[in-house]
Order: sequence, then C-alpha cells, then structure tokens
Amino acid sequence: KFEEGSHIESILPKKDRYARLTSNENPFGPSASAKKALKAAIDDSFLYPREYRQTLMSLIAKEEGVTEDHILLGAGSSELLHAAARVYGGANGKVLSADPTYTSLVRSAEMMGSEWVKIPLDKQFDHDLSTMEYKVKPDISLVYLVNPNNPTGKIMTGDEIISFCDTVSAKVPVFVDEAYWDYMENPKGSTTTACIKKGANVIVARTFSKVHAFAGLRVGYCIAQPEVIKKLAKEGPRNTLSGPSMSAATASLVDYEFIKYSVKMNNEGKKFVYDVLEKTGHDYLPSHTNFILFPIAMESEDFKKKMLAKGVGIKSMNVAGQDYCRVSMGKMEDLEMFADAFKQVISTKIN
Ligand code: PLP
Repeated sequence: KFEEGSHIESILPKKDRYARLTSNENPFGPSASAKKALKAAIDDSFLYPREYRQTLMSLIAKEEGVTEDHILLGAGSSELLHAAARVYGGANGKVLSADPTYTSLVRSAEMMGSEWVKIPLDKQFDHDLSTMEYKVKPDISLVYLVNPNNPTGKIMTGDEIISFCDTVSAKVPVFVDEAYWDYMENPKGSTTTACIKKGANVIVARTFSKVHAFAGLRVGYCIAQPEVIKKLAKEGPRNTLSGPSMSAATASLVDYEFIKYSVKMNNEGKKFVYDVLEKTGHDYLPSHTNFILFPIAMESEDFKKKMLAKGVGIKSMNVAGQDYCRVSMGKMEDLEMFADAFKQVISTKIN
C-alpha cells in the first residue's frame, strides 16, 4: 500500500510503495534525542512556550557565537524568507539572485511587486559572482544567495562567498540561505555568519528541516544585525513555533552524533546513485547536499510522470533547453526503487 496519508496516493496507479524523493527531506530522523524531547514537552502544551523558546534561543546564540538579539526564530526558514521578502521586496524592490536557485524568497518578493533580477549560473552551474557584484547597483534592495545551492547541489567556497558578502553588503543587504549547510565538508569555514560577526549587513537563514529531519516539525532561524532582526520580526513570525518543536530542536541542535550519522547515510545514498548514473552513462553534478541534479535525455515533465507511474517521486526541470532530474536522497530501499524505475524509464526511451 501507499504511504499513509500520501497526497499523491489518489493519482498513482496501485503499487506497493511510493518512494518520495521530491523534497530533500532526511528519512533517517528525527533523532532519538529529538523525539524524546518532543514527547516530554507534550504535557506542557497547555502553556505558552516561553521557556522552550528561551532555552532554544540561548542555545542557538551559544552555538553560533552571537548574542540573542542577532537571532529570529521561524516555523521553518520559509517564514523568514517570506519576512525578508516583505521587508526588502514591495513595489520598488529589486531582488538579485542566481538562476536557477531556490525561488521561495524571490517569488514572495515578486508577489509583493518586486522585480527579480536573475543572473544565470555559469556553464559549470556555479554562481557568477563577478557579474552578480557588477550588477549590484543602488536600486537593488536585496541580494539572495543559496549556499549550497538548490537545485544544483554546488557550493561557493567559504573564501569566495565571504569575500563577496563583505564587499556587496557594504552597498545592499545580502541574504544567504544556508539550508543545506550541515551537509558541506567544512560548514564552519563556509558560513557567512563570519561576516555578521564583523558587523556586515548579512542575513543568514538556517533550517532544521534538512539534516535534523524536522521538515514536518517546522523550525528555522536567521542570524543578522540586531536592527535587521527587529525589522524582520515586525514583518514576520510572531510566536508561531510550538513548545514541542522548540524542545526537540534544542535537543537536535547539539546531537552531533545524529548529524554525523545523517551525513554518513546521505553520503552512502549519493554514492549509490552516482554509481547508477555512471553505469547508465549519465553525467551528474557532484553534490554537497542531500539531492543530486543530472541531465536527462527525455522531456522533463514526461520523465517525471513516467517515474511517478512506477511509484517514484522526483523533481524535474528544464534549464536553458536541457532537461534535468533532481533526486533527493532517501533510504536505500527508496534509492533502489529509484534505480529500478530509472533503468526502465530510460530504456523505454531508447527502444
Ligand atoms: N531554503 C532552501 C534552499 C530550501 O531548499 C528549502 C526547502 O527545500 C527551504 C529554504 C525551506 O525550508 P523550510 O521552510 O522547511 O525551512
């Protein structure tokens, strides 16, 4: 039978299982420590969760090496991306970002009347930072960077992005979405919180939805200068997080063993998928995240439908005339389902 409650249940042909490899979730969690903290906090759910908020805030401040007035919590980082779109978007706003990238913030800003200034990734799918810097004129209201980037899984190195943020944030605010930060080889050396600590106008967003496996629990935060945090708070989340979620996040944030385990399982999954792609003659972008992007020789929508008909959910897209599949890492049985479906779908194309 399908996954219980799967929204996709109704549109799929009857199959035994559905491998959901669409949304870059972490199927190896939440951690045991997070679940224990979550359950323990349920009994306190009749109370407003002031104490849980305070405990999480002070732990984040300690872990990030900033004071609490540099932090804003959100129910997932989406709430904070939306708050930034409200503060820096609007009728005269112009948000500059790479293309393709994660589009939640830029789409929110567009809905509020802003223009989206897109700077295409270069041929290797890297950020073209020199063109981005050149295009930053006084009318740009926000620069949005995603590192590692979604959907490519590629990174800007710590040196590159820190130097870019130091220079550009002197002119306009820079928002760095570090949702997949924990999957990088050197997260601490790659985060642009280093710029914030030097006083720069940089906003860093983090989420518990990825390595911490909290996509359904909804916890995220951003770090910025205190005056920026005040602006975002005015336009953004007000006590939207639940006590149990914050309690679980407090446990998970310092569960370094679980983070290590998740990264290890993710790397094993990527190795398996790379192998499938190599054996079937496909190129791919080596990924610093929990998903892999690779070119396909089939129209992207058609490919997605064919994979779905075999019970495998993936994301597909067309970038500059080339079709791509983005597959999230799952448990090995899901990746095996992906491999089987993939081999069948590409062979129908060849025959
Ligand atoms: N930022 C990036 C780059 C993402 O890929 C996602 C989700 O996939 C998000 C933010 C939003 O995550 P959440 O609202 O769950 O924190």
